[in-house]
Amino acid sequence: MFHPVTSKVNLPQIEENILSLWKNNNVFERSVEGRRGAPRFVLYEGPPTANGSPGIHHVLARVFKDVIPRYKAMKGYYAPRIAGWDTHGLPVELEVERKLGFSSKTDIEQFGIDKFNAQCRESVFSYLKEWEAMTERIGFWVDLKHPYITMDNNYIETCWWAIKQMWDKGLIYQGYKVTPHCPRCGTSLSSHEVAQGYQDVNDISIYVRFRLSRRTQPTIARNVLEKLGWDSQKAEWKGEIPSLLAWTTTPWTLTGNVALAVAPDEDYVLVQTSSQQGVTERLILARALLDQALGPDNWQVLEEFQGKDLAGILYERHYEPKPEFVADDRHWRPENHVVSADFVSMEDGTGIVHIAPAFGEEDYELGQLVSLPLVLTVDLGGRLIPNNKPWDSMFVKDADPLILDDLKARGLLYRSEIISHSYPFCWRCDTPLLYYAKQTWYIKTTAVKEGLITGNNQINWYPGHIKYGRFGDWLENNVDWAFSRERYWGTPLPIWRCESCGHPECIGSVKELEGKPGFSGFKQPLDLHRPFVDEITFDCPKCKAKMRRVPEVIDCWFDSGAMPIAQHHYPVDNDTLLEDGRFPADYICEAVDQTRGWFYSLHAISTLLFNRPCFRNVICLGHILDAKGEKMSKAKGNVVEPWAVINKHGADALRWYCLTSSPPGNVRRFSEDMVAEVTRRFLLTLWNVYSFFVTYANIDNFTPGSEVASLEQSELDKWIISELNQLIVDVEATLDDYNPTRAGRRIEGFVSDLSNWYVRRSRRRFWKSENDADKLSAYNTLYQCLVTLSKLLAPLTPFLAEELYQNLVCSVFPQSPDSVHLADFPVADESKIDEQLSVDTQLVMKVSSLGRAARSQAGIKVRQPLAKLLVKVSSEREKSGLKRLASQVLNELNVKSLEFVDSVAELDKPSYVISSEGGYTVAVPTELSPELQAEGMAREVVHRLQIMRRSAGFDIADYITTYYQGEAYIRRVMEDFADYIKQETLSRQLIEGVPEEGVFTESRKLSGYDILLGVKRLG
Ligand SMILES: [Zn+2]
Ligand SMILES: [Zn+2]
Repeated sequence: MFHPVTSKVNLPQIEENILSLWKNNNVFERSVEGRRGAPRFVLYEGPPTANGSPGIHHVLARVFKDVIPRYKAMKGYYAPRIAGWDTHGLPVELEVERKLGFSSKTDIEQFGIDKFNAQCRESVFSYLKEWEAMTERIGFWVDLKHPYITMDNNYIETCWWAIKQMWDKGLIYQGYKVTPHCPRCGTSLSSHEVAQGYQDVNDISIYVRFRLSRRTQPTIARNVLEKLGWDSQKAEWKGEIPSLLAWTTTPWTLTGNVALAVAPDEDYVLVQTSSQQGVTERLILARALLDQALGPDNWQVLEEFQGKDLAGILYERHYEPKPEFVADDRHWRPENHVVSADFVSMEDGTGIVHIAPAFGEEDYELGQLVSLPLVLTVDLGGRLIPNNKPWDSMFVKDADPLILDDLKARGLLYRSEIISHSYPFCWRCDTPLLYYAKQTWYIKTTAVKEGLITGNNQINWYPGHIKYGRFGDWLENNVDWAFSRERYWGTPLPIWRCESCGHPECIGSVKELEGKPGFSGFKQPLDLHRPFVDEITFDCPKCKAKMRRVPEVIDCWFDSGAMPIAQHHYPVDNDTLLEDGRFPADYICEAVDQTRGWFYSLHAISTLLFNRPCFRNVICLGHILDAKGEKMSKAKGNVVEPWAVINKHGADALRWYCLTSSPPGNVRRFSEDMVAEVTRRFLLTLWNVYSFFVTYANIDNFTPGSEVASLEQSELDKWIISELNQLIVDVEATLDDYNPTRAGRRIEGFVSDLSNWYVRRSRRRFWKSENDADKLSAYNTLYQCLVTLSKLLAPLTPFLAEELYQNLVCSVFPQSPDSVHLADFPVADESKIDEQLSVDTQLVMKVSSLGRAARSQAGIKVRQPLAKLLVKVSSEREKSGLKRLASQVLNELNVKSLEFVDSVAELDKPSYVISSEGGYTVAVPTELSPELQAEGMAREVVHRLQIMRRSAGFDIADYITTYYQGEAYIRRVMEDFADYIKQETLSRQLIEGVPEEGVFTESRKLSGYDILLGVKRLG
């Protein structure tokens, strides 16, 4: 006997019971350890940060992470899965800063780095319980008891080792480079972080004059100078001195201007123009931008030049920097000059670009190329360094209006306007980013660009277009990794530098540090974080002065990217990692934004260290949107909380939606209603089949295992077994191809056929009272389908799969594995696959569906038998297929015979109703003989009695007495069809007359005749 199964199922409740079962029986641990010694299957868990609640997108990734290793374990692989937590970085610091009400790094330092970092350490796991609960509840099997944690000393030590390897290869350098800098967070952002924070904003844009120098210009061709109005003889300008007209959207950067750039091969002009006040002046700008910059018809061209003619012209600076602002004074000159640059465009502005190498990447590179000085007029907090100006110490964006006023007062402002453009903001704190030249530590990833690209060739990407698209492009456009952060809570950069001679050393392990001459000693307990690590000094090997650590920590993406080795404390421990199968991973999975995040940092570090990739297969998930296709955000209030969905519909429903709603790489919409829909469409359909099976099997005392000779199997059984074996083949192939979506959809299609065809067409076989071979075959067939489904579904819907397996297998075969997740994945018996039968049955289903359509068009219920069904198919092959399976069509459509016609014309009769689709046509004759009508009435009565049995609360197997009363016609039908009615309704007797007291009765009209019916359960 199976445990009784209700048709009204509470899936979340069942799942809770199964979670206890797994926990009590250590099923996960045993599913791993039971395979020890078998080939490994390695999942790398991309570590989430546990200082925020898990959202629906985390659930999505965890479901996809889970399904493949579960499958591989059932296929016999040894598949340990280690959880991991990302614990360092700016997000953690910001959370603590917010809590403490800090607004700058000064606040942190006054508070104390030790106390600050202690709070970070605590804050990291504030949502750990919730993450663990969520992970367990959705059935993501991963070892939460022994996770790797990026802030552990061992983990940090492996990162140090990795950095040291790169250092020894000459791949770590420090350089002035312009990086996007958040003045509030006080640190650089990596390019993938910048990409996340663009916003459309309104900014002041100004057209500003740069007056040519009054002095002699020895480097410029005399004819050019004279065209500009220079009197060579007197060595002075004739009349008003002309100005170069430049354009900028960041007025504050003018404080760091060192040059103006022109496009060497474009046309430039000297024009005469008059201002609104009627004052005329002479300006130099690109011809192509005249109208745009000055307005139409407001100018008169005096002379023409090529951009390169103007290179070298000296002009007057607007703001004189203090000497200490000049970071690199080799190239300092008393006057600024015009330079040529390829990047000057004729798209907007004036064709003359203001150059401040400290505040722009292109500007800095140009400065390196043509030897311009670096003038730093802004501090790292984004404030202008005092220089006796009204904007001293102001935040740059706040200084813009004052600078504007100053330029206006000095007659240097030509005009200003407000423009709307896209500007990067800090994705964490929403502060506008500044491009800022500062000293940063770099990993020279460009040195291994070829290795990154060839390594990527070996990786299987799902979806495939990411490989040479989003990820491949990112590698092609590789830039060096700015990996130092001027922050506190992170892996400290293991570089020490002599405070006297500047000699640097990189340290690769704790032991190496302890072995240094003059090593000052660790505080116990050992903590490799700041500020403790900052206190460690040793002797400079060159000059014997003290070596001190540089202040930076490293990008937390380095931490997570080092997880393949750092989680095992390689190479201090586990030094066989690269040979014993734990590296590389077989599988990783995250959302598509990780192409520039974790996917990249994994790949970069692995290539730098070992010159090979560290993952073989990767599923790259699309983003989740709300039901309307809009991005979920707290501000919009359209965020769906995973717990609400799980508590209502269960984890399997959520998993099924995540897995099957759209291909992994696509953007997907999400709402609770959508989860409810798949629950109804798939999970409940399967549940109903399961509940049907168990209910009848228990009534009949069916015991699985009694094989039925295939000779005795009906075509229907052979068909579903063929479909089942084909399903195994397909699910295996799609899961091997990392496509759980297709696997799930394939299973859904099978369950739909099983329910809507196999079970529907077999209902009566289960209902017959005799225990004959056909009935046994039906039981065995359906049993085999359900048991196999439980195994096929185990990786996808582990709870429902377990429920089926526990009841169908464990309860009757105590010697079998005690969980579906300890069982082997099903193996297809391909000899049972009959493709022709599959095709023929598809045709039967097609014809039946057309027949039902014709019936409903004619307004004749399926309960009313019809004399025949006429069918037109497209080949002899189809005709014989349909003949072979004719009984299925006849039963399904309740017709007495099946006839074929050769042309549709034969069906064109007034008494026929036709339905056709895709080359197939069926027709039903609508005339009903008195015999057919009587039989239809008998079926109506049976139908009513069955409803009454249910309403009266009888059991399916209860025998009853049936009472009836009605006109003569009713009596005749009851008598003529007595055997049929008795059998169908389990009536021992049909008694004409008024039912006795206490009998469940009902009076109604059936097909126009009054009838009174009563049912009474027999003891
Ligand atoms: Zn910030
Ligand atoms: Zn030294």
